[in-house]
Parts: sequence; C-alpha cells; structure tokens
Amino acid sequence: FMASEVLVEKKKLENPPLEIHYLGDRALRYPAKRITKVDAEIRELARQMLQTMYSAEGIGLAAPQVAIHKQLIVIDCEPDNAANPPLILVNPTIKKASRDICVAQEGCLSIPGVYLDVKRPEAIEVSYKDEHGRPKTIAATGLLSRAIQHEMDHLTGVLFVDRVENRLALAQELDKYGFSSQAVQPVA
Ligand code: ZN
Repeated sequence: FMASEVLVEKKKLENPPLEIHYLGDRALRYPAKRITKVDAEIRELARQMLQTMYSAEGIGLAAPQVAIHKQLIVIDCEPDNAANPPLILVNPTIKKASRDICVAQEGCLSIPGVYLDVKRPEAIEVSYKDEHGRPKTIAATGLLSRAIQHEMDHLTGVLFVDRVENRLALAQELDKYGFSSQAVQPVA
C-alpha cells in the first residue's frame, strides 16, 4: 500500500526530526540539486519534512530550509484538516504562469514573525514527480499557487523577503524580529 509510506499525523512534535535554518544562514542560499531517484530515502525525508512543518505550524517547507539541497518541497494548505493529504513535489518545474499578478502577504518558517506583501503570478501550472516518482502536473491558483511558488524559490536560494518591494516595511519588520536587512538579496 504505497500511499501509507509518507502518511504523517498532523500534530506538533516536541522534538521535530529536522532543524529549520533561519534568514542569515548560508544554507538557505545554496541551490538545490535535482533528485535522480525517488526512493525510500526521499520518502523518509518528505515524511520528516512534513513532521517538522506541522510542528512549526507552517503550510510549506523546502528541503534547503533544513539544509538539505535536494529539489523537494512539501505543502499542506489545510494543516488542520486531517482528510486533506499533503502535497509532495520532487523536481518541480513551472510550465505556465498567468500574466495576472496578485499581491498577498507571505511568511516563512525560516523568517519567523515576518509577514509582508509579495507580488506573484496568480495562477501556475507545475510539473513534478510525486513521492513514488510518478510524473504529475498540477494547476494551482490562490494560496496553493502562492505556496508552491514560495517553496520553489527556496530551491534556487531565493527567499520571499528578496521579492518585497516596500523596502521600508521590510527593514522595519526584519528589525522587529531580530533579523538583519543585510541578509536580504533583492531579486532584479
Ligand atoms: Zn519559506
């Protein structure tokens, strides 16, 4: 029964299996490598990432956030809904992005406390492999679209704060939560 292999109870663990790295840590800036084989080791990593994500009350986590530079992300936009299965994306690629851009507030488990507006395409189509190496595509809008784009940024060493246009608000928020603006690497 393959689906059970990465089933994870949605709860907070006292000692989550992986350590999340924070803004300022170089680990967040290295690009992730493509996964050549989706095997039991990758499924175990996905399971531990989900446990760590639920423990931190997040809705997404990318492997570089736990200093593992593999193209693996986990997402669950309904962490309080036990019936909603989490998404596990291996080697995700954006196939299409809408011209419609929308603005919404984002946060990140690697930058706790900080929430700021980021512009992103409203809708995307993404191809990836699932936890059994099966090729899949997903069309996403709204929160799921945003979560996937945010997590995929982590795979190239980009953080949401790099995309924040309001520099004053950015500096104030980072300072408020004890992060340095020097750790931001603005995109284009
Ligand atoms: Zn993040």
